[in-house]
Amino acid sequence: MPNKGGSQELLPVAKARERILAGLSPGQADICHLADSMGRVLASDVAARLSLPVEPVSAMDGYAARAADCGAVGTTLTRIGESAAGRPWTGTLGAGQAVRIFTGAVIPDGADCIILQEDVDASAEEDGASVSIREVPRAGRFIRPAGLDVTAGDIILAAGTVMSARLIALATSAGHTHVSLWPRPHVGVLSTGDELVTPGETPGRGQIVSSNATYLSAFVRACGGVPVDLGIARDRPGAMLEQVRSAPLPLDLIVTTGGASVGVHDHVVDDLSSSGTELGFWKIAMRPGKPLIHGQIDGIPLLGLPGNPVSSAVCANIFLRPAIARLSGGSYEPELVTARLGSDLPENDQRQDYLRSTLTVDIEGNLTVEPARKQDSSMIGIYAHANALIVRPAFDPPKSAGDAVMVMRLDPLL
Ligand code: AMP
Ligand code: MG
Repeated sequence: MPNKGGSQELLPVAKARERILAGLSPGQADICHLADSMGRVLASDVAARLSLPVEPVSAMDGYAARAADCGAVGTTLTRIGESAAGRPWTGTLGAGQAVRIFTGAVIPDGADCIILQEDVDASAEEDGASVSIREVPRAGRFIRPAGLDVTAGDIILAAGTVMSARLIALATSAGHTHVSLWPRPHVGVLSTGDELVTPGETPGRGQIVSSNATYLSAFVRACGGVPVDLGIARDRPGAMLEQVRSAPLPLDLIVTTGGASVGVHDHVVDDLSSSGTELGFWKIAMRPGKPLIHGQIDGIPLLGLPGNPVSSAVCANIFLRPAIARLSGGSYEPELVTARLGSDLPENDQRQDYLRSTLTVDIEGNLTVEPARKQDSSMIGIYAHANALIVRPAFDPPKSAGDAVMVMRLDPLL
């Protein structure tokens, strides 16, 4: 049985994250069309099937010729053919000859230079025309050799890479239509509380609109997971277990909000204990978000976030995001930058603090961060307009405006 009310030590954030991640791994990899790969993680390396370009091609419009024939301004060549994109010229170019060529067209055999079209005087735009050189070309210039960009057989994408629009373009160019991907994890999102009404309903006295599930569903989707709505569990024993067990889809992770504290109306911990599985009930050494539950229901890992909207959102950034990344076959580590404080901060206590803040960058690239005046964890209005969190270590001494602090940028989508 967890020590619900007792004097448990506060667990450092990094340790909590480690423990949460230790139990998570992705599902079964499968072969998917590149069109469905956006944001998903590659399960295997991808080797180029094609070189890019496959054959040497021209980078400019002009004339393909032999550099040895073009040593002096005024040299005249004879146009013997045309090579356009998709319509290569198939002969072999000989001494004194030029082939009209366009961007992306294959360089004719025998040619080793491109004379730009603005550097010649051509008697006509047809074969047999004489082409007089006004600028001496250099061998190889404006020619993209075969394999310039990618060589067939090279690993172009490593397992573990998150697919993006530009990586999809690369894999497509290199001859792929499908790649092996880890599946998107299904993340059940459950709210708890007698005071909650579903979005769209007008709250009565003592009621509030449940916003955490809306936030977390959007969050899960933005992180590459599939949110599964588990509804609202009312504040009575067993309600949360019933909701989870009637999930419409198999789940890889359950996220709950609220009911995580030690009050008589908080049932998440007792429900987990009664489900007969391992439970870690932690008070995390962080603010916002001290009550955080880690456990399992029927073998499915569960993350119990605090109920206050800002606490659950900040905890989602710190714990849920790396959890989804791990379940998706990838990884996520929040990136910290250093910025100058815009105003003074008092000494910090034993909890790592995540202060809602505004980060600005001046024309010289200097970062300044201004903490919001109010840091109440119920204030979604302030969180919604913040773009960063100042991360203050436990027992950080007082700080003055101009001092350096660590800052975590908030993802604009989260
Ligand atoms: P709890 O941890 O259940 O005591 O909740 C802490 C605070 O968060 C209370 O003020 C709740 O009303 C609020 N809260 C809990 N769940 C939600 C939710 N789904 N949406 C918005 N606020 C919530
Ligand atoms: Mg509650």
